[in-house]
Amino acid sequence: MNETAPLRARAEIDLAALRANVRTLRAHAPSAAVMAVVKSDAYGHGAVPCARAAREAGATWLGTATPEEALALRAAGLEGRIMCWLWTPGGPWKQAIEADLDVSVSGMWALREVVRAARDASAPARVQLKADTGLGRSGCQPADWPELVREALSAEAQGLITVTGLWSHLACADEPGHPSIQAQLRHFREMVRYAEEQGVRPEVRHIANSPATLTLPESHFDLVRTGIAVYGISPSPELGTPADFGLRPVMTLSASLALVKHAPGGHGVSYGHHYTTPGDTTLGLVPVGYADGIPRHASGTGPVLVGGKWRTVAGRVAMDQFVVDLGGDEPAPGAEAVLFGPGDRGEPTAEDWARAAGTIAYEIVTRIGTRVPRVYVNVNEEQDG
Ligand SMILES: *Cc1c(COP(=O)(O)O)cnc(C)c1O
Repeated sequence: MNETAPLRARAEIDLAALRANVRTLRAHAPSAAVMAVVKSDAYGHGAVPCARAAREAGATWLGTATPEEALALRAAGLEGRIMCWLWTPGGPWKQAIEADLDVSVSGMWALREVVRAARDASAPARVQLKADTGLGRSGCQPADWPELVREALSAEAQGLITVTGLWSHLACADEPGHPSIQAQLRHFREMVRYAEEQGVRPEVRHIANSPATLTLPESHFDLVRTGIAVYGISPSPELGTPADFGLRPVMTLSASLALVKHAPGGHGVSYGHHYTTPGDTTLGLVPVGYADGIPRHASGTGPVLVGGKWRTVAGRVAMDQFVVDLGGDEPAPGAEAVLFGPGDRGEPTAEDWARAAGTIAYEIVTRIGTRVPRVYVNVNEEQDG
């Protein structure tokens, strides 16, 4: 697999790993369909190739946050069900209807806009009503649910919309046993029951994200919406490692050393001189920085595999580069520096960077910038073992 082009930096995306992860998730939720959440450019992995690979592995739904992301998938030729949920007033409802997307509605303003667009488009909209069962973010509050359900049924009776789903999102699924989980499931069942009693006939009811898919079978309902697990990252280190769940990280981020040089002891390194060489040493220049999504908060802490050894970011991460102290070793310029990957070549993982930067691995992978080319490997399904 070492077709390493002489690139400054590369994010290698292993589509066989992604497909295997989707199959693993289907096995974790055998009674439900799987939605591969490919928002934010597939968590930084590249939306279109990842969406295609997820489809090949049996993800019957694709999910995005914004309608623009969903429309881009359609434009790229992805068929089948695609849902998007993050709408703002004046959004591209008509295009969404014409592209046969499932759209989420959390409140009356959105229902009014989608109904107007359906009249315009002379075609019914696929609408999924979102309940706030306790997350306190988007979704319709229980007190407002009867009105939303009533108006949705009235629009459905006029042939303007089809209510295809009832759904919600969990606040604390990554903390098994958190009392809010059972409370949210209870509210969800109640809000679903109410809507169904009023006459809603949803195709899918869904509330589970990756952590719920992996740890809470009673949350699976008809569909699970998996994001981070598709990319082979554990939703939380407390829950377990990716391997514990049969998942494999999809992204490997590496760079080619831009310079290796000797430096004397007592030499300050990078902006602010927050690192000083403890003695005669060699320094390696890693040509990626915070503009590429390398967290500046990992200054002095981020791990990198160079020449078979873990090195640590010496001093500050700058916009385009950072330095590692190679302790006298002299790898050739161009030698590979692996920031993170699956871990089985001894390299750090995205989780290691998350710990180093005081954040979560979701943020590490999603922030890798557009200046880093994505290099897809194991693109063809026939390559799967
Ligand atoms: C991002 C997102 C998901 C996926 O969450 P993961 O924890 O990455 O699995 C599911 N549902 C909604 C509404 C989301 O915004």
